[in-house]
Amino acid sequence: MPDYDPDPLCQDAVVIGGGFYGAAIAVYLAGQRGLKRVVLVEQESALMTRASYNNQARVHNGYHYPRSFTTAYRSRVNLPKFVRDWPLAIKQDFTKLYAIARRNSKVTARQFERFCRDIGASIQPADPGLKALFEPRLIEDVYRVEEYAFDTAQLSSWAARELQDSCVQIRYQTRVTSILKGAQAPLQVVMQTSQGHQDVIACRYVFNCTYSGLNQMAGDFPGVSAGLKQEITEMALMQLPASLSDLGITVMDGPFFSMMPFPARGLHTLSHVRYTPHLHWNDQQEINPYQRLDRYERDTRVDRMLRDVGRYIPEVLKAKYIDSLFEVKTVLLKNESDDGRPILFERHLELPGCYSVLGGKIDNIYDVLETLEAEKFFGSDNQGKC
Ligand SMILES: Cc1cc2nc3c(=O)[nH]c(=O)nc-3n(C[C@H](O)[C@H](O)[C@H](O)COP(=O)(O)OP(=O)(O)OC[C@H]3O[C@@H](n4cnc5c(N)ncnc54)[C@H](O)[C@@H]3O)c2cc1C
Repeated sequence: MPDYDPDPLCQDAVVIGGGFYGAAIAVYLAGQRGLKRVVLVEQESALMTRASYNNQARVHNGYHYPRSFTTAYRSRVNLPKFVRDWPLAIKQDFTKLYAIARRNSKVTARQFERFCRDIGASIQPADPGLKALFEPRLIEDVYRVEEYAFDTAQLSSWAARELQDSCVQIRYQTRVTSILKGAQAPLQVVMQTSQGHQDVIACRYVFNCTYSGLNQMAGDFPGVSAGLKQEITEMALMQLPASLSDLGITVMDGPFFSMMPFPARGLHTLSHVRYTPHLHWNDQQEINPYQRLDRYERDTRVDRMLRDVGRYIPEVLKAKYIDSLFEVKTVLLKNESDDGRPILFERHLELPGCYSVLGGKIDNIYDVLETLEAEKFFGSDNQGKC
């Protein structure tokens, strides 16, 4: 017998993971699908402190995906909705440049122009003054485009407000350890608080929105069928010199780099395709990605990033390093070569009522909500019995 007392009241839904996806899904279930009893469980002590904070804050508009037309196209569809729905979180007051490397790039400048035309994305030649920032022997061409940044702190304030207004109950510092087929209720979610107390919630539906932790549940949870790759990543937080501070710059398409405003800290992130991923492994239940990151020594590679970036944009050598964001990045194995970012949405037939969701990038929330719209959900009666 388990050493916990089952919750006598059945909840409509338990959402596991208080990142952007878990929060948005909980708000959607409570607000738009009429589920009255929704519980959000988060292992950290606040919302959106993991991948939803530790990312490059780019609202994608297609440019980044010349090798995946579908992802580029979906980004074009989703960006205007994201700007409409989260206006306070959007930063537009900077100039975004995409530059094409002469060597080792998987696209040429002409191919990039054609691709932007194909997806209907605006592209202009960069002003000569901006183009002069780049080393012409290494850069074929530079374009001014329309791409924005989001403020992760604003997104998390939005989540806290909306969850409260939707009467979603939040349990912080509580880690879900297993999901079981219930005897009385369809599902039972077993969890442990940071003080070591075990608890169980009976519910009709479970939404596993744990990003790197998707496969860490035990019990009857079957795991997700899609292969996942886990990467420990480092993005350096930089204070850029005045000549670069109003810019976002991405050099394409291969072992290059990106600098994006990071509005939550008033700094820029610097990521480099070669140095940002420190180590990677194929996801498996025996390796807990969060614990692996906790044990990782986190030696910064900012010197190597800057040495390479400085060859393309000498001004960057005047930047000041502040610190680094380390996080586990989780991507679908099937998109390794095309860099596409579709959503993962799995309905676990072995565990009816249980779903796993991986967004891939922030604006994909619309693809997830569209998929959820097609699902039928039944709420509890007023006594909360299933
Ligand atoms: C380095 C990097 C750069 C990125 N750059 C961009 C970008 O520029 N633009 C973009 O759109 N996207 C970007 N992304 C992707 C984006 O960050 C993710 O798609 C998004 O944040 C995923 O949100 P989420 O809610 O699924 O994950 P998270 O925010 O990680 O939320 C999952 C939550 O689940 C909690 N959790 C995990 N296991 C358990 C458990 N067992 N019990 C309870 N709680 C649990 C975690 O603590 C966490 O809070 C980037 C990601 C990384 C890592």
